[in-house]
This record gives sequence, structure tokens and C-alpha cells, in this order.
Amino acid sequence: MTCTEFLARMTDYFDGTIAKELEAEVRQHMCECSHCEVVVNTTRQTIEIYRDTDVYELSTDTRERLIANIMSKCRGKGCA
Ligand SMILES: [Zn+2]
Repeated sequence: MTCTEFLARMTDYFDGTIAKELEAEVRQHMCECSHCEVVVNTTRQTIEIYRDTDVYELSTDTRERLIANIMSKCRGKGCA
């Protein structure tokens, strides 16, 4: 799984709507890719912050910022 594929599936992973076999791939990518691990941790923290304030959905803006950030980090490392 590439970072691009990972990021495309991350929302489903957090929503719990991801297919079982894809979930395994997502977890494996997280273990292997420190960049995406950071994104996941940041996203999880963001979700938890918003959950406390009853704003559960991660805004498109926040998600796009996260994805842009990770893509720029991955670029040049041959992982995206
Ligand atoms: Zn990655």
C-alpha cells in the first residue's frame, strides 16, 4: 500500500467502515511508514478533541491540510 492509498482509506478506517482485508493493509502501512503513523496519531487526537466538544466530524479543511502535509513529507522519499 502506498501513502496515497493509505490516505484515501484513512477516513474509512476511522469511520469503521473499512473492509476487513483493507484494514489489515492500513495497519501494516502504519507500522511501516512513520509519516503516516504521525498523520494517524494527529488525526486521532483531532477527533478526540472534537469529540469532547460534540463536533465529531473531522472537517474537510483539517483533513486536506493533514493530507497535504503528509504528502509533502513523503514526496522525495519514494514512498508516495
Ligand atoms: Zn505512508
